[in-house]
Amino acid sequence: MTKTIDLQVNARNIADFKKGYPLILKDAIINSDVLTTEGTIVRLLDKNRQFVAKGYYGIQNKGIGWVLTRREEVEIDFDFFESRIAAAFERREELFENPNTTAFRVFNGEGDGIGGLTIDYYDGFFLVSWYSEGIYSMKHHVYSVFDKIIEYEGIYEKLRFDTKGQYIEQDDFVKGEQGDFPIIVRENGMKFAVNLNDGAMTGIFLDQRDMRKVVRDNYSEGKNVLNTFSYTGAFSVAAMLGGAKKTTSVDLAQRSLAKTIEQFSVNGIDYEQQDIKVMDVFDYFRYAKRHELKFDLVILDPPSFARSKKYTFSSAKDYPALLMDAIAITEKNGVIVASTNNASFGMKKFKTFIEEAFNEAGSRYKILEESTLPRDFRTNRDYPEFNYLKVVVIRKTK
Ligand code: SAH
Repeated sequence: MTKTIDLQVNARNIADFKKGYPLILKDAIINSDVLTTEGTIVRLLDKNRQFVAKGYYGIQNKGIGWVLTRREEVEIDFDFFESRIAAAFERREELFENPNTTAFRVFNGEGDGIGGLTIDYYDGFFLVSWYSEGIYSMKHHVYSVFDKIIEYEGIYEKLRFDTKGQYIEQDDFVKGEQGDFPIIVRENGMKFAVNLNDGAMTGIFLDQRDMRKVVRDNYSEGKNVLNTFSYTGAFSVAAMLGGAKKTTSVDLAQRSLAKTIEQFSVNGIDYEQQDIKVMDVFDYFRYAKRHELKFDLVILDPPSFARSKKYTFSSAKDYPALLMDAIAITEKNGVIVASTNNASFGMKKFKTFIEEAFNEAGSRYKILEESTLPRDFRTNRDYPEFNYLKVVVIRKTK
C-alpha cells in the first residue's frame, strides 16, 4: 500500500472541500511542509482530525495537489483509476460513434475526477498529458487501465511538469503501434493533420472544436478573413470550408508556414490563393493600417502570455489593446471572434475588456454569441475557474 500523509485543512477552507472544490491550494493546508515526495496520497483532516477528503500531492501551477475522493473508504489504486476512466469514456460514447469527429478529449482532469491528468483521442491513438510529477508517479495504473479496458492503436504522452510548467522534450511514444504521422483526423467533417510526437503541440487545439464549426457555418461565407495567432491555420481552414473569399493567417513561428500549407492541402484548399504571413501580429496590424486593409471577419486567439523580440503580450493586461488593433481594421458590420484561454479571469472580466476597447476606439458593438469549452472538456459547473476558455463573437456596428 502507498504511504499516506495526513494534512490539516485551514478552518476557512473546510467548507469548500466538503462542497467538492477539487484543487488543494498551499494556503488551504496548515502543515504542507510535511510533504516531501510527489505522488504521496494525502488525507485532508479538520482540526478535530475528522476526515474531509483524500487526494494526492503534486505541484501544478498554484496548487499542491488534487482531491480524488470525499469517501474515506475509497483506496487510490488500480480500481479507482479504472472506474474514473471507464466512466469518462462512457460519457463520450456518442463522440466515439460519430464518424465526422475523430479527435476529442476523453478525460479532462478534475472535471472527470482526477486533476492533473488529461487524455485525448486522435482516431485510434491516445495522447496522455501529465501535469505533475505526482500524477506521473501513478502512470502504471493508468496504462494498466488502457491494457485492460481500452482498444487502442498506440499511446503517446506529454510531460508538462518541469519546474516552469513547460513541456519536457522527449520521445513521446509509450506503447502499441507507432503512428505514421501526420495522421488525418476529422472534426465536424473538416480534416486536420496531426503529429503526436513532435513537441508540445499536436497541430490542433481540440478545445476550439465548437468555435471552428461556428466560424465555418455562421460567419465565413463570402468574407475576407484575418486569422491572428493562427498556429497551423485551423480557423482559416474552417473559414475557407465555410465559403470565405480569402484568408490571411498570421503567426510568428517559422513552423506555422509549412503547417498551415499542410492543413489547407489536406482539405483540398489551394494554399497559393491564401495569405500566410510569418510575422509578429502587432507588426501586421501596423502594416494593415498603413495599407488600409480591412477585414470582414477577424479572429483573435492569442496565448495567455507571449514574448517576441519586440513585444510582450499578457492577455490579462493587454487584451483591450489587442482588440483596439483589431477594431481598427475590421469593416463596419464586420465580426470579431475574441477568444482567450487565460484562466486567471472569467467571462465577466473578459466582457469588460471588450467594452473598454470599443469605448476607447470610439466604436460600437453587439455581442452575437459566446461560448466556453466543448462538452468533452468536462468541467464542474460550480467552479467556472476550471473552464478557462472564453470566446465572444462581436459585431462592430459603428
Ligand atoms: N489560434 C490557434 C492557436 C494559437 S496558439 C488555433 O486555433 O489553432 C498561439 C500561437 O500564437 C502560437 O502559434 C504562437 O507562435 C503564436 N504567437 C505568439 N505570439 C505571437 C505574436 N506576437 N505574433 C504572432 N504570433 C504569435
